[in-house]
Amino acid sequence: MGYQAIFPDNKMSVAQNISHTRERIAAACKRAGRQPHEVTLVAITKTQPVSIIREAVSAGITILGENRVQEAVEKVREVGAKVAWHLVGHLQTNKVKKALSLFSVIQSVDSLRLAQEIQRHAEAAKQTVRVFIEVNTSGESTKFGIEPKLAPELAKHIAEFPNVRLGGLMTIGALTTQTAIIRSCFQRLRGLRDEIREMNAPFTDLLDLSMGMTDDFEIAIEEGSTLVRIGRAIFGERN
Ligand SMILES: *Cc1c(COP(=O)(O)O)cnc(C)c1O
Repeated sequence: MGYQAIFPDNKMSVAQNISHTRERIAAACKRAGRQPHEVTLVAITKTQPVSIIREAVSAGITILGENRVQEAVEKVREVGAKVAWHLVGHLQTNKVKKALSLFSVIQSVDSLRLAQEIQRHAEAAKQTVRVFIEVNTSGESTKFGIEPKLAPELAKHIAEFPNVRLGGLMTIGALTTQTAIIRSCFQRLRGLRDEIREMNAPFTDLLDLSMGMTDDFEIAIEEGSTLVRIGRAIFGERN
C-alpha cells in the first residue's frame, strides 16, 4: 500500500501483470505451434506479503510456489487451501514432514535420500505426494539439482515408491544472457523427460516439464515447458 501511495503511476497492478504475462505465454505458444492451455502458470510468491498474494489469487492464479518451508507456513494458513502450493526451493530432509503438511507438490527432489524421506513421511501421514526431480542442467556449482545423467535412475526409484508420484522434472536455466545456452538447458530437460518416458515406469507418460522463469519463460515454452514459475513479472522486483 505504502509503495503504491508513493509511486501511484509507476506500478502496474498484480492483476495487470498477470494478464500481460498470460498474453506473453500465449504468444510464445503460438510461435511454437502449441496451445496456451498446455502451459500452467505458477506464481512464485517468495518475499511477497499475504496481501499481495491475495491479489494474485483474486486475479485467477490457482497455483502458488514458495522456495522456503518456513516462509510458507503463515502464507498457507492465511491464503488457504483454495489454491495449490508447490515447493520450488531446496528441501532439507529434516523439514520433509513440515513440507508435506503445506505443499501438494515438491518440485525440488534431487537425491534418493530425500525421495526416501518423503516416502517415509507420506506413508506415515497416509498421503500421496507429487514430486518433480530437480535437474542441474546448467552445471553451475551454485545450483541445486541432480546431475542430468543420474536423473533417469532416480526416476526409476521414485516410480516404485507407493506414496510418491513422479509428476515431472524441474530445472533452472543457466544464469546468462546467451539464449543459446539457456535453450540448451531446457532441451536437456526435455531429452531427459523423453528418456524417462521410454522406461515405461508407472505414471511416467504424463511428466510435466517445469522450466522457465521471468527472464526465460518464452524460451522454455518454445522448448516444451508445461509449467512456468513466474515471480518478478507478476509481483515486480524483489527487495
Ligand atoms: C524465485 C524462483 C522463481 C521465480 O523467479 P523470477 O525470476 O522472479 O520469475 C522460479 N523458480 C524458482 C526455483 C525460484 O526460486
